[in-house]
Amino acid sequence: MLDALLPPLCLLCGAPCAADDATLCAQCRGDLPAPPAAHCPHCLLETAYGEPCGACLAHPPHFDRAFTLYRYDFPINRLVQDLKYHARFALARRWGEQLAETSADFPADCVVPLPLHPERLRERGYNQALEIARHCARVRRLPLDAASLTKCRATPPQASLSLKARQRNLKGAFVSCRDFSGQRVLLIDDVLTTGATANEAARVLKLHGAARVAVATVARALRR
Ligand SMILES: [Zn+2]
Ligand SMILES: [Zn+2]
Repeated sequence: MLDALLPPLCLLCGAPCAADDATLCAQCRGDLPAPPAAHCPHCLLETAYGEPCGACLAHPPHFDRAFTLYRYDFPINRLVQDLKYHARFALARRWGEQLAETSADFPADCVVPLPLHPERLRERGYNQALEIARHCARVRRLPLDAASLTKCRATPPQASLSLKARQRNLKGAFVSCRDFSGQRVLLIDDVLTTGATANEAARVLKLHGAARVAVATVARALRR
């Protein structure tokens, strides 16, 4: 009973949370690592004036835009793991609402979470991308489609692989059962690392007719 009356405590330092945030205090929130202010609109890597980077000009990704909230660095990496493995759903709510705001200038027709392979889903019990996506869709008043894009092949963890190996690893990993003709899709995931996974998902969405795809993630891994 008392718990319900007390403000929630910051997941990082234990101080009372900010009034509009059930996850962090104002101090910890202010200290979170920001993504580069001027960045490539496709992949979010830092560029001098916000122009597309050389790599995206040479090989444009299948997604048209990308949005992120944070740089994937301490303590965001810890919070992302808290959601992924410890079911801290307050984080999904908070990030979903923030992504709705950040992605507002991308006109979308539906929100699609990056799917988990059914086996991983069984082990973990939930898909963190879907938990984030449902709040983003609610705030943006868009339909949430968590059924039409599926992961049909379990892929070895991407982290240990080179970019080329990641791309090979992902071939045929996603399938779609829906006609996305003319749809502008907002694809949601927790972390954008090389972009290979989001790129493959966007490729499949476009193969099924999607007109535009934007990828919105909580954090972007960036080399220092
Ligand atoms: Zn704090
Ligand atoms: Zn780029």
